[in-house]
Amino acid sequence: MKDLLGISTETWDLYEKAMQEVKEMFLKVDEICEYNSAKVMAAFFEAQISEAHFDMTTGYGYNDLGREKVEEVYAKIFQAESALVRNQFISGSHALAKTLFGLLRPNDLLLSINGLPYDTLQEVIGIQDNPSSLKSYGVIYHQIDLKEDDFDYSKITEFLNQHTVKVVMIQRSRGYASRKSLSIEKCEEVISLIKKVSPKTIVMVDNCYCEFVTKKEPTQVGADVVVGSLIKNLGGGLAPNGGYVVGKKEYIDFIAEALTLPGEGREVGPSLGANKVFLQGLFLAPSVVASALKTSILTSAMLKKLNYQVEPEPLEERVDIVEKITFGNRKDLISYCEGIQSGSPIDSFAKPIPIHMPGYQDEIIMACGAFTQGSSIELSCDGPLRSPFSAFQQGGLTFDTAKVGILKAIDKLIEGRNEE
Ligand SMILES: *Cc1c(COP(=O)(O)O)cnc(C)c1O
Repeated sequence: MKDLLGISTETWDLYEKAMQEVKEMFLKVDEICEYNSAKVMAAFFEAQISEAHFDMTTGYGYNDLGREKVEEVYAKIFQAESALVRNQFISGSHALAKTLFGLLRPNDLLLSINGLPYDTLQEVIGIQDNPSSLKSYGVIYHQIDLKEDDFDYSKITEFLNQHTVKVVMIQRSRGYASRKSLSIEKCEEVISLIKKVSPKTIVMVDNCYCEFVTKKEPTQVGADVVVGSLIKNLGGGLAPNGGYVVGKKEYIDFIAEALTLPGEGREVGPSLGANKVFLQGLFLAPSVVASALKTSILTSAMLKKLNYQVEPEPLEERVDIVEKITFGNRKDLISYCEGIQSGSPIDSFAKPIPIHMPGYQDEIIMACGAFTQGSSIELSCDGPLRSPFSAFQQGGLTFDTAKVGILKAIDKLIEGRNEE
């Protein structure tokens, strides 16, 4: 394998040592994969999925039996009343935006309890000016920062006691922030606090990158609405685009009316062939997430040995599939991303260069040689070109193919360091 890929002995030795160290972690990942696979299978049995559900509708998309079954399966997996799983959602960002527009009305208060939300939501909310933001419709926004990588429980209580908050927003995965991702246990604690202090407040969770990483999803610990992307975990690498929203029926119905149109809501939306890939992607998702987790764990172990700061640490419990690597300098960040690109199945010959992207504030370098554009359940690595030059790596449809990407990237990194 080493010769086939032209990997240096130095990188190969590092890989073999790292694999020894992370054995136990891989067993834990397999155990969670086994559980979540059973969860998916049980939902398929209960919903009695059959070949007829692969059929599609066109046009308005009325009476799309397959689409309804996809949504039934999602609702069962999340133990939720209702689900909206649609190819009309472009991706996670769009599903999140429609969720907020569906739930909030003029003068309503939206509260983020993990500080600044994900980059693409900042113009949606109006934190960054945009004439079509929620703010432009009179929605008021407030945020409470995290305290030592956990919720600031006393500030949240105080704020909820003083104001009527319509929606509390929790983002589990860190996005491009330096904080840690938020575990299901922490979510459970803060949601029960919110429900005690302000029972009418809707708790919405951005679950991107966290699905199937542990055994429970946020709806199982009290979240009212949970949102995610199908070009991440639950698409299983097969969904060509899309997003999902699950939770309480009354809220999901509002979101459906925001996605399509008032009066038609969830009744329209042609599936255009998405039903089969959504079901098959979901079927594969627990295994794909396990591969992505193993890829992140291996990356963490190898880069730690090269003295880069990694988060999570190789043996640390994980909340999401993301590995944050802090390179400390521009050159190493760029060589690592170039290496990931060169070890990707698609466009391995291309060289990623830093550019400005819509929705993001800094210049960004993105390595993503994926079958689906921008898919980050496939091995991908990106980072804003600002100090301390951190990259966020995630994905890996199979561990053995993603491992090739990691070996190539680390080889490139070591090569660059040795030249100095
Ligand atoms: C990726 C991500 C999003 C946006 O999802 P897309 O599918 O890329 O639009 C939102 N929130 C978080 C935390 C994410 O990681």
